[in-house]
Amino acid sequence: MFNKLLVANRGEIAARIVRTCKRLVSRRSPSTAKPTKRATYPLLADEAYLVGPAHVTQSYLNIERILQIALDTGCDAVHPGYGLLSENGTFVHAVREAGMTFIGPSADVMRLMGDKAAARAFATQAGVPVVPGSQGEINDEDAAVEFAESFGYPVLVKASAGGGGIGMKIARKEKALRKAMQECQRRGESAFGNAGVYLERYVEDPRHIEIQVFGDAHGNVIHLFERECSVQRRHQKVIEESPAPVMAKFPGLRDRMAQAAVDLSKAAKYENAGTIEFIVSPEGEFFFIEMNTRLQVEHPVTELVTGLDLVELQLRVAKGEALPQQSSLHQAGHAIECRIYAEDPDRMFMPQPGHITDYVEPTGEGVRVDSGVRGDWDVTPYYDPMIAKLAVHADSRDAARARMAKALDEFTIGGLTTNRAMHRRLMDDAQFAAGDFHTGWLEEWVKAT
Ligand code: ADP
Repeated sequence: MFNKLLVANRGEIAARIVRTCKRLVSRRSPSTAKPTKRATYPLLADEAYLVGPAHVTQSYLNIERILQIALDTGCDAVHPGYGLLSENGTFVHAVREAGMTFIGPSADVMRLMGDKAAARAFATQAGVPVVPGSQGEINDEDAAVEFAESFGYPVLVKASAGGGGIGMKIARKEKALRKAMQECQRRGESAFGNAGVYLERYVEDPRHIEIQVFGDAHGNVIHLFERECSVQRRHQKVIEESPAPVMAKFPGLRDRMAQAAVDLSKAAKYENAGTIEFIVSPEGEFFFIEMNTRLQVEHPVTELVTGLDLVELQLRVAKGEALPQQSSLHQAGHAIECRIYAEDPDRMFMPQPGHITDYVEPTGEGVRVDSGVRGDWDVTPYYDPMIAKLAVHADSRDAARARMAKALDEFTIGGLTTNRAMHRRLMDDAQFAAGDFHTGWLEEWVKAT
């Protein structure tokens, strides 16, 4: 295995990666903006380094500085986690040029998939259905209107470089489309340095289903089944589960989607962990929307149903080991993950940074908490306000819901507003229990209840 691995990240995912490294890597050193003795992730690791001031552009996005720490401290591998530099081709290239192993796919495939318009074209070529829409980018407003008139409304304008729900707007008529074009171009430019946009059919009431894939250096590609991430706000996930409740409605859908994901990954000669995201229409048609070339936030639900450690698999694949056979993998039981955020569901899910006074995590059989916080701790406005990921595993979906409800009751987070109570109510909701929801459902539910 590796001798020493730098985790170029912070928070819960840094802690998560270090945990696996403790079993597999001789020594590791996560980078951290503030290596106070009280944060979980630097404490878990053998060494911790200050990368810079809290603002990400000066710390976690500072490629030169992170590289320097890795080199100065004698690391032979770098794990990027998710977000931050995890999908930055320039970073991947720099890490490899410096003679270290980057835990992830090639810079080329990352750049290809990072451009969502290009990824759509690639998926189409690989025979994978994409959401009907423009062929490539449309950057002229009049051309966009002309396209939409013949294609039909509603359309979704999307920034090619978009992510995290940023740079995406629905338009149901011309005036809204012109506004959406301007806004997405502006957001694309300001958030990602790329003003390119494209248009897709806006699929009404879809479900978000994604397939976890893995590729190795020997040309093998396997899938680790699906995750359903339809409970969202602002096009961002709040609850994820595996298996997906929607699969019960459409026999054969899982196999078809998994095959499409494997085909696409094979066509891209994909190595390491990746996720192919689809939306599924109420009629059971599925369409590719994008590929994420990294470990996902919601990977714990896949770990719970497959019994695999995805970070371990990432490290082994990066070392050149072959993946396990597809036929050896199975989905066992049901896993649900609730993302606990410092945010207020009653005030449009606005972030509520603040000071955590008391903090007690739930424990027990089938309960897993991934967190990077503790009591007497600040949730700052500098980063995503996620406090923890609470995941449970049980024999059935109903048993998992019950286990989640109990774990949420036990979870004490004092001092600031969180979405814990919302999750708790959801676990008892009849529609949630029936698995009867879509990507816009949570926002409607919060308003109605
Ligand atoms: P991002 O990269 O910003 O996360 P995605 O393309 O992955 O954007 O889409 C995020 C979410 O937006 C999806 O889970 C779904 O809720 C919604 N969405 C995306 N494309 C469509 C579409 N064509 N029709 C309806 N909803 C969509």
